[in-house]
Amino acid sequence: MNKPVANESDVLIIGGGLHGSSSAFHIARRGASVTVLEADYVGRHASGVNAGGVRTLGRPLPEIPLALMSREIWHNIVDTIGDDCGFVASGQLKIAETEAELDECRERVALLEAHGFTHEKIIDRETLLELEPALTPHVTGGIWVERDGYALPFRTTTAFRLAAERHGAVFHEGTPVTRIEQKGERWFAHTPSGVFSAAKLVVTAGAWAGELSQQVGEPVPVYPEGLMLMVTHRAAPFCRATLGATGRPLSFKQFDNGTVVIGGKLIGIADLPGRHGEVDFARLVKSANTVVDLFPHLHNLGINRAWAGVEAFTDDSLPVISASRRASNLTYSFGYCGSGFQLGPACGKLVSELVLDGVASLPLDAFAIDRFKDVAAA
Ligand SMILES: Cc1cc2nc3c(=O)[nH]c(=O)nc-3n(C[C@H](O)[C@H](O)[C@H](O)COP(=O)(O)OP(=O)(O)OC[C@H]3O[C@@H](n4cnc5c(N)ncnc54)[C@H](O)[C@@H]3O)c2cc1C
Repeated sequence: MNKPVANESDVLIIGGGLHGSSSAFHIARRGASVTVLEADYVGRHASGVNAGGVRTLGRPLPEIPLALMSREIWHNIVDTIGDDCGFVASGQLKIAETEAELDECRERVALLEAHGFTHEKIIDRETLLELEPALTPHVTGGIWVERDGYALPFRTTTAFRLAAERHGAVFHEGTPVTRIEQKGERWFAHTPSGVFSAAKLVVTAGAWAGELSQQVGEPVPVYPEGLMLMVTHRAAPFCRATLGATGRPLSFKQFDNGTVVIGGKLIGIADLPGRHGEVDFARLVKSANTVVDLFPHLHNLGINRAWAGVEAFTDDSLPVISASRRASNLTYSFGYCGSGFQLGPACGKLVSELVLDGVASLPLDAFAIDRFKDVAAA
């Protein structure tokens, strides 16, 4: 027997991470009715447990316009959604530890400038040590982006959800979508709580999005990784900027309360069916050693907590932000490869444009879902 249709709206969004919540906000503020279906709870996965890096630094070229657009929203986040999301414009630094690494940084900045992007600046050793005097003296310089920073992930995702709700969006938590289908022009999403229906469907299901695109006959090589983070006990203030390294994985920031969050795309274990990530402590040790190399005075600082979140990766390290090529009124936004927190505010807006206007205000060709068609066919 067919289950009754529990809910009808203009737009149905599957996935209540930052991208689903931001898309819901930007769509609802333009007057469309929006329903968001979330399997667990809003912000449970990558969007609520990430490192909070608001980083334009180091982006692949096609992502830079999106990251710069997002950065402007971050700087106006209170006016946009009524919450500061804990955003701090700390600046972001990429540290070089050898002359060869500094040359790599110079090449990167020259490449960006050749494309007209001037937000990443080369700095020499003296400037680096002026910015961060506690750094080990063996550093050689790096790249500095003054308007980057960090924010609080769970608070940000919740703030987008609340802002969307103020515009009438309805969120259903504990509502996993098991099947999607299009009948005529309408979309139907089947869940244990009933069937939801809408004219337009948006898939923002993170690491699980591939299961849904597959149902539409649009397989995408998206795979999960369990990214790890650790947070230390409190230390006296010693570092203002958010830091990364050139030659080894690192993302590092000290919060106002003195704790230090350490990450940098550290791969742990992803359990997709179990819907959780697990920490691999041996790999965390390597990262802790990098931090002590750069800040020797932290040698005895204890780790308070470590965790892992499930994130979606693609073969070319770029997300899918795209209208479906196989079905009408279906839009995808997933596969953010460990860098989607910063992009959340802008990508929600771009998705709203794709959904409501049929075209986005920035070029999205690099993120088209059919760029994988040869891989998917194989
Ligand atoms: C440890 C870690 C550190 C990171 N650090 C940074 C950083 O510093 N800066 C940065 O920019 N990015 C960072 N990221 C990446 C960033 O967190 C993600 O790219 C971003 O949060 C992805 O958001 P999302 O909404 O696409 O996915 P998610 O947050 O994973 O949301 C997807 C949601 O969809 C739901 N869902 C899935 N399938 C279904 C279904 N069938 N039915 C209903 N609901 C479903 C899930 O339950 C989930 O809540 C980090 C990620 C991790 C894990």
